[in-house]
Amino acid sequence: GNAARVQAVQNIVNRQAMPGKTPESLSSLWASDVFTLSKMKESLPKEVFKSVKKTVEAGAELDVSIADVVALAMKDWAISKGALYYAHVFYPLTNLTAEKHDSFISVQSDGSVISEFSGKVLVQGEPDGSSFPNGGIRSTFEARGYTAWDVTSPAFIMTTDNGATLCIPTVFVSWTGEALDKKTPLLRANAAMNKAAQRLLSILGHIDIAPVNSSCGAEQEYFLVDTNFVSLRPDLLLSGRTLFGVAAAKGQQFDDHYFGAIPERVQVYMQDVEEQLYRLGIPAKTRHNEVAPGQFEIAPFFEAANVATDHQQLLMTILKHTAKKHGLVCLLHEKPFKGINGSGKHVNWSVGNSTQGNLLDPGSTPHSNTQFLLFCGAVIRGVHLYGPLLRAVIASASNDHRLGANEAPPAIISVYLGTQIDNVFEQISNGEITGSLNAGVMDLGINTLPVFNKDAGDRNRTSPFAFTGNRFEFRAVGSGQSVAGPLVAMNTMLADSLNWVADTLGDKMAQGTDLDTAILKTLKEIIDQHGAVVFGGNGYSAEWHKMAVEERGLANLKTAADALPVLCESYIEKLFHELGVLSPVELASRFEIYAEQYILAIEVEAKLVVSMAKTGIFPAAAKYLAHLSSTLSGLKSYGIELGNEPMARIAELLTAMMAAVVKLSTALSQHGFSDIEEQMQFCAKTIRPLMDEVRQYADTLEGEIADELWPYPTYQEMLFIK
Ligand code: ADP
Ligand code: MG
Repeated sequence: GNAARVQAVQNIVNRQAMPGKTPESLSSLWASDVFTLSKMKESLPKEVFKSVKKTVEAGAELDVSIADVVALAMKDWAISKGALYYAHVFYPLTNLTAEKHDSFISVQSDGSVISEFSGKVLVQGEPDGSSFPNGGIRSTFEARGYTAWDVTSPAFIMTTDNGATLCIPTVFVSWTGEALDKKTPLLRANAAMNKAAQRLLSILGHIDIAPVNSSCGAEQEYFLVDTNFVSLRPDLLLSGRTLFGVAAAKGQQFDDHYFGAIPERVQVYMQDVEEQLYRLGIPAKTRHNEVAPGQFEIAPFFEAANVATDHQQLLMTILKHTAKKHGLVCLLHEKPFKGINGSGKHVNWSVGNSTQGNLLDPGSTPHSNTQFLLFCGAVIRGVHLYGPLLRAVIASASNDHRLGANEAPPAIISVYLGTQIDNVFEQISNGEITGSLNAGVMDLGINTLPVFNKDAGDRNRTSPFAFTGNRFEFRAVGSGQSVAGPLVAMNTMLADSLNWVADTLGDKMAQGTDLDTAILKTLKEIIDQHGAVVFGGNGYSAEWHKMAVEERGLANLKTAADALPVLCESYIEKLFHELGVLSPVELASRFEIYAEQYILAIEVEAKLVVSMAKTGIFPAAAKYLAHLSSTLSGLKSYGIELGNEPMARIAELLTAMMAAVVKLSTALSQHGFSDIEEQMQFCAKTIRPLMDEVRQYADTLEGEIADELWPYPTYQEMLFIK
């Protein structure tokens, strides 16, 4: 390799190993940096604690008068853990986490200092929000945004090189009350789903129904690459993915050698990550079973969706920060390497409460199965009606590389149920239920529903939205994305469907139909009207892509440019508005922001392609040509003819690459789009293909030019040297 690459490899080979720590016992680590309910119980007066607990567990409104007492206890605890600062943590419409830090220290009039933290500052903060995207909600002269304490997500201590900080999870809203963040709609969507689920459960005869909440367990994939390599790759540094480079001769087929041989260095890293997560009460377990070389996975145990979402954000932050400490870069990009599996985030989702349990868990009695089928049917209806929304909430420039490539779920959103449940719905649709407890054809009746076999063993890896025994798994979510958007969409569509089910049952019963018959009729309506979204076959196949669109009328929104405009559709606006999740203004602002992010991401990449081609690849190829030509003429003077074919081929590739670079530069300077949708389409249909064109020539050149001249670390180096 060239000098810089050789140096990088040498640095890695000679690096001092980070000493592995002896892990502390789990019981001493576990949630030690979290202001948990049990710590509150110890430090708060009984009445105050009761009130907080009610808010956390039953969603009761926060009694603001107790804030001072809680703040004091929280401050004392934080200071005892070494914290000097506190921060309201919030989740703006990037996929990042934002914090506004303040000191506990307050200077008195006599010049002395005391530590201070009042209820007022616990409950509300006022960060300078003007630097966060707001999609036109706040004009700059009204740039105020407020953060407000989310009591349902526990406060914690974050320790970095700058010291320890008490972190308080908050929502972030404009001064007019509009959501500027990802948490606010999640809390609202959860509330809407709870309300609808309560309605249905009470129709089904339950009394004393505990609040229904959604749960989320997110499996996170990521790549690790040594910092020495990344610093030589402007594309990885600035866009998170390689814009040039060819898969190593040993690609994924190499995996049998790779498994079981996680470099010690990575293991030490994982241990470090886990320890920090345990301190924060995040129940994570690393896995080593990813398909691509250099790729890993970490999956926390599921928790309440709101807390899981905050924890997921923390997890991404910790993965990245800790990597730096270990001389690694953690890539959360969905497709850092071409020709090698990308990274996703499987969002496992269910809904339930403490009185009825997991409502997506098939029960052991026909009665609980009916309830399950109604909730499951509601999900099917939701995915059918709002599939394009599910596609839109995972739309990004980076996730586009994954969806639809034959390794990740297709961009067509369908539901996989497994043969058993498929079968039951089919029978309901046919009006006959067989295969029940008693053999033979039964009357159409609840009591004849078969008992489900719990571990419905069949799995379908190609489905974007799969039922996996007691939950749905949304697999098309990108590795770098917040899980909030998908959870908002799922809970909202479910709320809508549960309301529809409750309305439909109510109508039928008002006409004198008994509950059991009304249920079966409703289920039949669902499967007859929405069964088109259920698909158990190979989601990667060309036949499915044709059938899904042509016969079943499902959308195939290939790029984010196709998918994001769904957010502007009137039926989506109506859905969010009616359920109180997002107002039309809030929704429109989200579209604006995500569309801008998409365009910006592609522009950054395209500029990098131009500059790397011009300043890195062209000079390397030209230098090689110069070498070759002097070698050839030198040999000629000895009467030896080497033939100029290699030179001619390289020259041709180089000329073609530079011609593509010119086309790309010209396209980049295009202005005057009639609207943002047109500009997104231009990025998808013109800029991206031109980037691919440049890359194709450059990647061929990589295989032609002397290795010692190639300026960028190769796939082989980045993926295999640790
Ligand atoms: P996989 O086979 O996909 O690797 P796992 O059984 O390991 O699945 O679980 C993946 C994730 O699903 C974990 O985070 C797990 O906690 C979560 N999970 C399990 N049950 C539920 C549930 N009822 N609701 C939500 N998430 C769940
Ligand atoms: Mg999974």
